Amino acid sequence: MHMTTMAVVLREVSYKESDKILTLLTGQAGKLTVSARGCRRRGSQLAAPCQQLIYGEFTLYQFQGRWSVKEASAQRQFRGVREDIEKLALAAYFAEVTELLAPEELPAPELMSLLLNCLHALDVLDKPAAQVKAAFELKAMTLAGYEPLLDACAVCGRQPEQPRLHLSEGVLHCASCRDEVGEGISMPVSPAGLEAMRHIVYGNPKQLLSFRLEEAALGQLSDLTEAYLATQLERGFHTLDFYKQLKMPR
Ligand SMILES: [Zn+2]
Repeated sequence: MHMTTMAVVLREVSYKESDKILTLLTGQAGKLTVSARGCRRRGSQLAAPCQQLIYGEFTLYQFQGRWSVKEASAQRQFRGVREDIEKLALAAYFAEVTELLAPEELPAPELMSLLLNCLHALDVLDKPAAQVKAAFELKAMTLAGYEPLLDACAVCGRQPEQPRLHLSEGVLHCASCRDEVGEGISMPVSPAGLEAMRHIVYGNPKQLLSFRLEEAALGQLSDLTEAYLATQLERGFHTLDFYKQLKMPR
């Protein structure tokens, strides 16, 4: 069986002498594990497209239940991301989260567009990394079925003063309603940060990044979306740890 599809390379692992095993997010068939034979050989036509974060057209064939790459051509290389170690680290985190959230062999067009939009933003748009990160984390969680309830306080139903997000419950509440929400951590969010979260969760995905926040509010939002993702998914990410190491003041 053959299939030609657009795909993003989420992960690459070297295998044997000259092969790679790739995790692709394909437009047609969702997440697939494929082998790219000979792609590490000098002069291989597959060398350039079979790298992490490449977006391109892949012709795949299936033999005895395993997929392999027959042909591939890169359409976007995201050079601006590859040439900047911080951006590359953040993009690798996006890829790791996408790999975790993408369903096996089921198309996930919204998740794929989200990833591509965020890679594009890191590549060529002049947006703060914290903004792209927060938008990616919160939208990815929303698309994967972990949408937080942000319309009003989950306890009193009013627009919260001093709003907070309860990480494990995934609900908004007022500081004064804290005792009614249950145990676990809840984190503060600024009123402007809350507006940005509503924009990310409920807004048009094409305008995902069309919000503005002051640097401090943006940092707070990015910490919050990161903690929300890690709490809901009950895990950490090596790629995120690496990104944060790079960001630490030296
Ligand atoms: Zn309340």
